[in-house]
Amino acid sequence: MLRALLLGLSTRRRIGEVMDRFAVTRRFVRRFVAGTTAEEALGVLGGLNGAGLLGAVTYLGENVREAPAAAQATLAYLDLLDEIKRRNLKAVPSLKLTHLGLDLGEAVCLANLRRVLERGRETETLVWIDMESSAYTDRTLDLYARVRPEFPNAACVLQAYLRRTRDDLERLIALGARIRLCKGAYREPPALAYPDKRDVDGNYVRLVERVLAPDAQARGVYVGFATHDERLIGIIGDRAAARGVPADRFEHQMLYGIRHDLHPRLRGRGLRLRVLVPFGDDWYGYFMRRLAERPANLLFLLRNLHRG
Ligand SMILES: Cc1cc2nc3c(=O)[nH]c(=O)nc-3n(C[C@H](O)[C@H](O)[C@H](O)COP(=O)(O)OP(=O)(O)OC[C@H]3O[C@@H](n4cnc5c(N)ncnc54)[C@H](O)[C@@H]3O)c2cc1C
Repeated sequence: MLRALLLGLSTRRRIGEVMDRFAVTRRFVRRFVAGTTAEEALGVLGGLNGAGLLGAVTYLGENVREAPAAAQATLAYLDLLDEIKRRNLKAVPSLKLTHLGLDLGEAVCLANLRRVLERGRETETLVWIDMESSAYTDRTLDLYARVRPEFPNAACVLQAYLRRTRDDLERLIALGARIRLCKGAYREPPALAYPDKRDVDGNYVRLVERVLAPDAQARGVYVGFATHDERLIGIIGDRAAARGVPADRFEHQMLYGIRHDLHPRLRGRGLRLRVLVPFGDDWYGYFMRRLAERPANLLFLLRNLHRG
C-alpha cells in the first residue's frame, strides 16, 4: 500500500522541487546519490575500484519531453565514457532509454543510443540499458535486439516481478545477451506483475536457474544479479556452484548507499561485485523508488524533517 503510494508519487516531479528546498532532504538523498556532478560520481567510482569493486554510473534523468534534453543526456554519457577511459576506471554507464528520448519516438532514441554504444565500443566499455516501467518493456527489448548484433557491448535488464519475464529471458538467451536480473522497481498492476514479494522472489530463483543452465551458458549469457537480498545472493552462489559456473561468468550488482556491509563479504568469497553510482539533479524519481523499497527509509526521512 505504502509502496504503491510512494511509487505513485514518484512521477510527480513538483514534489521533488519542493523537497529539494529542505537541507534535511538533500542530506538524505545523498545517501543514495553520489552528488550532482559527474566529477563527484567519478570520484566515488575511483574509490570503489580501489576497494576491488567494479562500478556502474547513471546520470539521473528519465522521461524527457524535449529533444535538446535527450541530446544533452547523450552528450553526458559520451563524456562519462571518455572520462572512464581517461581515468582507467573499471566502470560502465547504465542508462534509461526515456532519458535518451524514447518518449519522443524510437528514431530519436535509437540515434542517441547508437552514439553512446559506438563510443562504448571505441572505449571497450559495456553500456547497460536499464529497464523502466512495463509501458517500455517491449520497446526496450526490441531496441536492444536491434542494436545487439552490431554492438555486443550492449547489455540489458529483466525484472523478476513481471509475469512475462520468463519468455523475455528465452529471447535474450537466444541472443547470448548480457543481462542484469533485478526484482523491478516500478508500480505495476497485478495482471502484469506479481504483487506478492514471495512470488517475485520465487520467480527470481527460477530465472537464476535458467540463466545458469548449461545451454544459456554455452550461448555466452553473462548475468549481473542485481539484488541486495542476502537469501537470494546465497541461492545464486549455491546454484552457480552446483552447475559448475565459474565466478567470472557472472557478477553481483548493488546500488550505491545500500547494504555496503555485504561488499567485503562478497569480495572475500572471490565474487565480482559492481556498485551502481547515480548522480545528477534529477534525483526525485530514483530517490522515491528507493524509499518505496524500504518504508523504514521514509520514516527516517519524516523523523528528520520533523526535527529539522
Ligand atoms: C545495480 C542495480 C540496478 C538496477 N536496475 C534496475 C532497473 O533497470 N530497473 C528496475 O526496475 N529496477 C532496477 N533495480 C532495482 C531493483 O529492481 C529493486 O527495486 C531493488 O534492487 C530492491 O530489491 P532487492 O532485490 O534489493 O530486494 P528487496 O527484497 O527489496 O531488499 C532486500 C534487502 O536489501 C535492502 N534494501 C533494498 N532496497 C533498499 C533501499 N532502498 N534502502 C535500504 N535498503 C534496501 C534491505 O536490507 C532489504 O531487506 C536495480 C537494482 C540494482 C542493485
